[in-house]
Amino acid sequence: MESSCPAVAIIGSGISGLAAAQQLYRQGIRNLRILEATGRTGGRIWSQEYGKGLVEIGAHWIHGPSTKNPVFQLSSQYDLLDPGSMSEENQLVEFDSPLIFSVTYSSSGKKINCETVSDVGKMYSSWLHKSKAFTHGGCGPHNSVGSFLKQEISGSYHDWDREQVDLKMSLLNAFLKTECCISGTHSMDDVALGPFGEYTTLPGLDCTFPRGYESLVNQIKLSLPNDIVLLNKPVRTVNWKGSFQGQDSRIYPVKLECENGETFLADHVIVTVPLGFLKECADRFVCPTLPYNKLEAIQNMGFGTNNKIFLEFEKPFWEPECYVIQLVWEGESPLVKSQINLQQDWIKKLSCLFVLQPPAQIGHVLCGFIAGNESEFMETLSKEEIHSTMTNLLRRFTGNPNLPPPINILCTHWHSKPYTHGSYSYVAVGSSGRDIDILAQPLPEKGDPSKPLQVLFAGEATHRNFYSTTHGALLSGWREAERLINHYSGLRSVGNWSKL
Ligand SMILES: Cc1cc2nc3c(=O)[nH]c(=O)nc-3n(C[C@H](O)[C@H](O)[C@H](O)COP(=O)(O)OP(=O)(O)OC[C@H]3O[C@@H](n4cnc5c(N)ncnc54)[C@H](O)[C@@H]3O)c2cc1C
Repeated sequence: MESSCPAVAIIGSGISGLAAAQQLYRQGIRNLRILEATGRTGGRIWSQEYGKGLVEIGAHWIHGPSTKNPVFQLSSQYDLLDPGSMSEENQLVEFDSPLIFSVTYSSSGKKINCETVSDVGKMYSSWLHKSKAFTHGGCGPHNSVGSFLKQEISGSYHDWDREQVDLKMSLLNAFLKTECCISGTHSMDDVALGPFGEYTTLPGLDCTFPRGYESLVNQIKLSLPNDIVLLNKPVRTVNWKGSFQGQDSRIYPVKLECENGETFLADHVIVTVPLGFLKECADRFVCPTLPYNKLEAIQNMGFGTNNKIFLEFEKPFWEPECYVIQLVWEGESPLVKSQINLQQDWIKKLSCLFVLQPPAQIGHVLCGFIAGNESEFMETLSKEEIHSTMTNLLRRFTGNPNLPPPINILCTHWHSKPYTHGSYSYVAVGSSGRDIDILAQPLPEKGDPSKPLQVLFAGEATHRNFYSTTHGALLSGWREAERLINHYSGLRSVGNWSKL
């Protein structure tokens, strides 16, 4: 370690923490430590062996893989993607519509006509598009995306063919459940309408990593010395505004205390812990405590759960060209609020299953997505219970009581993970993009005479336009690294770190 160089600690080895470290290291700031609570790097990027290949426990796709997406750019440079994913044609696809389902089953075991599904999908898509147009105000009485969509539905169903109303309502309800998975929320009634359009969708047809999303994390790690990342080092307290004397006799303003009592001194710390973790313990994690506006932003912002259920089958029961299976519960409607008995009804929240590709490499594997309270409830159940519920569900929807059960099942548990506490952030009702900006501001605040940039904040929840994504996380890491690099710029060339 270069003792004349500023000491920078990074909390968390997800993509934001590693990206910050990579940038700092490249720019000559090499007195670096990444403290990671768990026994692995990557955080919410996590590829695990399953079936005949790998599955993604966390992030699955590069959303909008095109020139403006840094995850795509980096992955292309590292040669981690299929040629097809990198083609010009793929990068130009404008993808701002709901999922296209290959087959839609109803709870009475019938396939729903593709045309009806497509008509409802188009209607839903146009309303969703409209819901993104309120960034400059004019929401009227609606504060949530859910209430806006319900108003659009109420205003149009009188024109539908009477015999189709029930079916279309249940289809719309299924689309809303899938939207909850995308937004990582329990209900779209929890997602704020005004800021919804601030989330920016990049062009490009979503793509995956043939050797797992973690291949990107591993490549970033290769550019860093091995001893930078310290695993199993959960940080309990971030002390700042201090005068802590190091063994080198230097005085440091920041001291990190780990759960095991170990301490680390630093000039700067970049905190990349998930918003879910901050929601649990922000008041005691940072000492002196965070300013009120930051605590309020943490409380206001949304952080929900989206889990996956992987099911491996001996043989596929779906057609070879099938990519996504949609499940629609008859009798449900977005306009009718039903009482939910979690024990009995949790599975009703699962509305889509992806066929993982390519089957030749991974086997015959479906990945179901489930969000919200039902998803969190699922985490309390045993594998056997989930296996039997999934078998019954698929038998019911396919109308085949003899459908062979899956040979292997794997469920994610993002809510129960103490250092994540959910899946990703959204802008909740009562919150706005301003809260994201407040969370991203470094400490001490402007005007405070103490040493600047003691505590910096990165992570997906700190990116106003790309929150909830890997590219948002990566950019936030680069942003905070740049903040420090700019702070010291001009000084490094003469080996003078006198801003310390
Ligand atoms: C199920 C699921 C599906 C997703 N799908 C996609 C997708 O398809 N595409 C996409 O772009 N994004 C997706 N995402 C989101 C994406 O994974 C995240 O936005 C991104 O990986 C977050 O990176 P990060 O560095 O901000 O946080 P993280 O990856 O969560 O890293 C934070 C790290 O901090 C550590 N930590 C927490 N507390 C402490 C502490 N006290 N001390 C030390 N370390 C601590 C954690 O262990 C973790 O390793 C998905 C996420 C989930 C959960």
